Amino acid sequence: MDRQYDTIFYLIRQTTGASEVTIQLTGRPRPPAPEGLTCIESPLVHKGQRIGMLRAYAAQFPSGAAHLLAGFAVLVAEHHALWAEAHLDVLTKALTRRAFTSELGRAVSGYQRSGMPCSLIMFDLDHFKKINDTHGHAAGDAILRAVAHVVQSELRPLDRLGRLGGEEFGVLVMADAATAMDIAERLRDVIEGTTVRDFPHVAFTASLGVASLDAGIDTRDALLEAADARLYEAKMAGRNCVRGEFPGDWLSVVNC
Ligand code: GH3
Ligand code: MG
Ligand code: MG
Repeated sequence: MDRQYDTIFYLIRQTTGASEVTIQLTGRPRPPAPEGLTCIESPLVHKGQRIGMLRAYAAQFPSGAAHLLAGFAVLVAEHHALWAEAHLDVLTKALTRRAFTSELGRAVSGYQRSGMPCSLIMFDLDHFKKINDTHGHAAGDAILRAVAHVVQSELRPLDRLGRLGGEEFGVLVMADAATAMDIAERLRDVIEGTTVRDFPHVAFTASLGVASLDAGIDTRDALLEAADARLYEAKMAGRNCVRGEFPGDWLSVVNC
């Protein structure tokens, strides 16, 4: 996501003398600070709401740098709002299906270019129609928001969460098959352990399918298809479980 700020970051470096610039969006982990450098920061505010923090680092800043950074913070906040409108799902703040599949495409190119590991975890909430029917659509919506929030907070900065449709999500992790299985099991566990404040009595779970780029699965569509097939296997195996495949055709069954 930070690629979208390349030009603004370049201008910040040129005008303030910063050697590094970072953005921390509210609710996301703070990016690591380079050691031994001075930091100046400015809040990112959109429509009166604080949406994050812009930070610049240098050995020494000229006078007026903080003032300049505050001006850039206005620009970054506006830019982010426009980007979010085009790329984020309104209900869950996950990437839209379109934005997510385009990230997947970029990850597949990275794998083809340099062998960078990449896995897709696809998950779907279990018996969600029944949850809506029993507790109401508002409960369903609150659960979708909560699930996206807890999953997002489990991920690292380079990983991506997308809402593929309805109550189905995709998680793109820059990790190999074994690591992705561990992550998927952790996600299954945190989803099962999540309670929604306004509907504390409503329990919910998800089924997950994991696929990784390798010699046999080397395109975006093949990755989506494989993760979807494993998700289906997890549903068939009884739900609230993870299905994936380790290298060597070893079919993994976690919690089924
Ligand atoms: P399974 O375990 O097989 O996935 O069963 P399911 O009931 O989750 O699957 P099904 O496809 O039959 O139903 C999906 C339900 O998800 C139906 C639909 O109303 C609900 N849903 C999809 N999008 C939303 C949404 O944005 N908000 C709410 N509240 N419900 C949604
Ligand atoms: Mg479902
Ligand atoms: Mg579904």
